[in-house]
Amino acid sequence: MKILSVNAGSSSLKFTLIELPEEKTIASGLFEKIGISGSAYTIKYNGEKVKKEVELPNHTVAVQILMKELLDMKIINSLDEIEGVGHRILHGGPEYTESTILTPEVIEGISKYNELGPLHNPANLMGAKAFMDALPGVINVGVFDTAFHQTMKEREFLYPVPYEWYEKYAVRKYGFHGTSHRYINKKVSDYFKRDDLKIISCHIGNGGSLCAINAGKVVDTTMGFTPLAGIMMGSRSGNIDPSIIPYIMKKEGISAEEVVNALNKKSGLLGISGVSSDSRDVEAAAEEGNERAKLAIDMYNQRVANFLAMYNNLLGGADVICFTAGVGENSKEARQDIISRCASLGLKLDPERNNTRGEFALISSDDSSIPVYVVPTNEELMIALDTMALSNK
Ligand code: ADP
Repeated sequence: MKILSVNAGSSSLKFTLIELPEEKTIASGLFEKIGISGSAYTIKYNGEKVKKEVELPNHTVAVQILMKELLDMKIINSLDEIEGVGHRILHGGPEYTESTILTPEVIEGISKYNELGPLHNPANLMGAKAFMDALPGVINVGVFDTAFHQTMKEREFLYPVPYEWYEKYAVRKYGFHGTSHRYINKKVSDYFKRDDLKIISCHIGNGGSLCAINAGKVVDTTMGFTPLAGIMMGSRSGNIDPSIIPYIMKKEGISAEEVVNALNKKSGLLGISGVSSDSRDVEAAAEEGNERAKLAIDMYNQRVANFLAMYNNLLGGADVICFTAGVGENSKEARQDIISRCASLGLKLDPERNNTRGEFALISSDDSSIPVYVVPTNEELMIALDTMALSNK
């Protein structure tokens, strides 16, 4: 069966058409600058890439063009071939603990949590509505970034703040990247044919989070109420003392939103290095002797290592450690440096095994206390698999 896996942003729409159960990507693409000038779309199919600049006033038009292109490019012969559409949805609040079939009522229910994910949720839901209109009768499924983390216990998900903030305003840790961490858990559990593993999943890309998993259940994760918390990221600060916010507001004469915007977009690797949020640019600058780039990498890797050690303690000793996402899958330098900072745990990489990129691989040496793997993530596939599972029910 063919399933569309969709990630709709406020001005973009990414899709992957996947054949299941073969898990084969048939086509993929991106509609960008929707609703703003310079809009265009790209579709990759059969090793070819088609790019067209057209006006995309809204997501509905983007979806209509996508359907037409799928037919015109003979990617499908009829729209009936699309048997389900899965949508990445950032926030399901405390209510949506697993992937859910989308109906107008469910969309209404999810939009209660738009306030918790104001940049993504309304766009995710707008994308879902556009597909529901374009493909009537086809199952649409919402797959939430927060859902996998809903197994966390109060000890982990509550902040030590006035309890009424939780009761009145749902202030708590939600965690994100859940679909990726769930995929890593599934891949590793399938590989070892075990469902009782204690896994530390390190998703380090532009955004980044670690997740401690015990027998398929999340014990803790580094992102929080929003994706701003936890490790240092490409342009996000990760954890900081919140008192910095009113202090900078006063000093710079800016609003809380502007400070938080700087913590999201001008911090992390970018903020410290002053070079870029992209780890490759920062690594290149560090190699050329840029001191702040070196410091940025030092800070970044140390924070990942600190959480790794903390989660190993929380799990009472992990069985497997995994690296995934852009940096985790591709940068042998980052992996080597992070693991060398965990020497007290007895972790050791094998330089030759670590010389790998983008493939499932064991990278630790035989005398490492815990095996370390690279496990490429595939959120699109996870979304499609959930959609298939719900369509078969
Ligand atoms: P996102 O959070 O946007 O999905 P990704 O998971 O794609 O991000 O990760 C992007 C990060 O991965 C960037 O910092 C980029 O430099 C890094 N990255 C991607 N490819 C490589 C590579 N070949 N070597 C080192 N880093 C890489």
